[in-house]
Amino acid sequence: MRFVILEPDGRGNEFVLTGDKLGQDVLDKACEKLGIKEKNYFGLRYIANDNSVWLNLRNPVSTQLRPHLPGKPHRLRLEVKFFVAPQELQQEETRRQFYLCLRKQISEGKFNLTKEKSVQLGALSAQVEYGDYTVYRKTSANYSQLLNPSWTNREVEKQVAEAHRKLEGMESSAARDTFLNVMSKEELYDAEIFKAKTGHQKVLVAVGSSGLKVYERRANGKLKQTIGFESILKVNVSEERLIVVLRKTSESSKLNFVHFFLASGDAAKAIHKAVMEHQLFFCSSKVRRSVLNHYLLSTPCWALPAKWFTKTPSGDLYHLDVKHTRRQSYDLHYRNVHSDGGAFRHDWESECSKCNSKEANVLFTPCGHLVYCEGCAKDETVCPVCNHTSTTWQRVYFSNDAACDDWTCQICMDSEINTAFSPCGHVCSCEDCACHLPYCPICKTFITFVQRMHVQFPDHLFKDDVSDDGCDSASELTEFS
Ligand SMILES: [Zn+2]
Ligand SMILES: [Zn+2]
Ligand SMILES: [Zn+2]
Ligand SMILES: [Zn+2]
Repeated sequence: MRFVILEPDGRGNEFVLTGDKLGQDVLDKACEKLGIKEKNYFGLRYIANDNSVWLNLRNPVSTQLRPHLPGKPHRLRLEVKFFVAPQELQQEETRRQFYLCLRKQISEGKFNLTKEKSVQLGALSAQVEYGDYTVYRKTSANYSQLLNPSWTNREVEKQVAEAHRKLEGMESSAARDTFLNVMSKEELYDAEIFKAKTGHQKVLVAVGSSGLKVYERRANGKLKQTIGFESILKVNVSEERLIVVLRKTSESSKLNFVHFFLASGDAAKAIHKAVMEHQLFFCSSKVRRSVLNHYLLSTPCWALPAKWFTKTPSGDLYHLDVKHTRRQSYDLHYRNVHSDGGAFRHDWESECSKCNSKEANVLFTPCGHLVYCEGCAKDETVCPVCNHTSTTWQRVYFSNDAACDDWTCQICMDSEINTAFSPCGHVCSCEDCACHLPYCPICKTFITFVQRMHVQFPDHLFKDDVSDDGCDSASELTEFS
């Protein structure tokens, strides 16, 4: 079978795969062509019955794509399926694809951007794609194609030109990373959008990392309802209907149902899949086998319990498509990208190396260097150790007295501490122990992913190593020996 994989900017990559392959084989090949190792964030889209749907990576391609005339390729779009935070992205190419995808979504009007944001993002895009304003001026390019459709007038374009001029000298990759950071604060950044109806009202349902958000479907439509994943008991699909069953708020209260009517049965299945997959990916620490084994519903029936269903005429087809959660994906990608281990490490100093007075408590990400205090890191766009790839930073909290205590993992009491939990920022564990913890042992916050720290601690900070460095714990040990 021949495939053409289109990137969001329209560029195509063509290849041939022999025999009937799984969706995953096609994605693997597409990612290999582009050098993407962080594959779990991506999916492939195609058009089926006028609906744009995700190719199920666990099912054979032939059960999903219609047979083509010989020699005519299947056209699929490479798109970001799970928009994780920019600091989780380890590779330049992945960040580039996230950028392209968001750029396309902006031009399609997905985001309800303010004028100021539109101007800022338009200028950053211009810097990414054309370089400095003086260079841009010599091309025939036009700002309007970089903007949200509701902000494409002369006055806005003038403001974009002004903002673009001020970015003079900014590297294209730095502009792109700033763009990603700005976009990641948008409400719909990580959401997939579906058109639906509730009763007679037209709505947009945004399925994102924390649950569902329901908006009026019109220009500047208001947010009508928020349904967090924690309040959902189950979701079912019956013909064109998505039924969300909410948890009881108290013992005596009745079950609450929210019904969404979609345009077709396929659209209902697609939103159902999106809800289940976003919950699995973003809110679970690992994917259980029982969940992986869910089959496709051939004849959905609301009366049946959520036991799921068996065979379709073409054999067993999987319904859900998430093999790894956000956290597992980060760990896996991290190992794939940094197979060289700690080549990146820098010596640790407890004081901020810029102001030399406050404690170094900010971890640059994704590189994992710990050198600055919060105040000094605030305006940095570049990591001072490795000089690049800093998209953002995370404040970390040490569970010990950083200057004096030892840096042995507090769980196994053996390996060196080399991780920080996200989002809470606690530092107390080694990589191996961290992967077994669903919650932070200090504050009990759910761990969305485990950030790596590339810090080389001096030997005297380890319990086992006795030195005469003047550290309390070390000198105590010396007295005993
Ligand atoms: Zn400082
Ligand atoms: Zn760095
Ligand atoms: Zn450990
Ligand atoms: Zn914590």
